[in-house]
Amino acid sequence: MNTLHVNIVTPDGEVYDGDVRMVVAKTISGEIGVLPHHVPLVTPLDISILKLRHEDGGRTLIAISGGFMEVRQDTVTVLAETAEAADKVDYDRASAAKVRAERRLQDTKLSDLEFKRAELSLKRAINRLNLKEYGRD
Ligand code: ATP
Repeated sequence: MNTLHVNIVTPDGEVYDGDVRMVVAKTISGEIGVLPHHVPLVTPLDISILKLRHEDGGRTLIAISGGFMEVRQDTVTVLAETAEAADKVDYDRASAAKVRAERRLQDTKLSDLEFKRAELSLKRAINRLNLKEYGRD
C-alpha cells in the first residue's frame, strides 16, 4: 500500500479522516516526514501546522495546538488539543487573540504561570495566522 490513513481527532470531534501520501509534522524535537511503511512511533507535537500531502500532489494544512501523533501500520492518528483546516480558521479572531496576548505579555507583574499562558496563547494565535500565509504558496 502506498498511502497512509490519517485520522485527526480533537476533544470537539474528528477533523480529518482520509488517505494521504505523506504527513509532515512538527514534533517537540524537530520536523518529521512520515511515509508509508514508517516504523511505529508515538510523539508529542508542537503548536504547529500539520501538512498532509495527497496522492495527486495537492495538500491540506491544519493548524494544531499541540497533542500527540501515533504512527502504526500505515495509520497516523493525531490527538490534538485543537485542530483547524485553513478554511475553518477565523483570522480576525486569531489577530485579536494575538493582540490580547502581546498586551498581556507587557504586564511586568505577571506570575510565571500567567506569563507562560500568555506566551502559549500568542503562539497559538501566530500559528493560526501562519496558516493564511502558507495557503498563499
Ligand atoms: P481565543 O482566545 O480566540 O479563544 P485560543 O487560542 O485561546 O483563542 P483555543 O483554546 O486554542 O483558543 O481553542 C478553543 C476553541 O476555539 C477550539 O475549538 C479551537 O478550535 C477554536 N478556535 C480558537 N481560535 C480559533 C480561530 N481563530 N478560528 C477558528 N477556531 C478557533
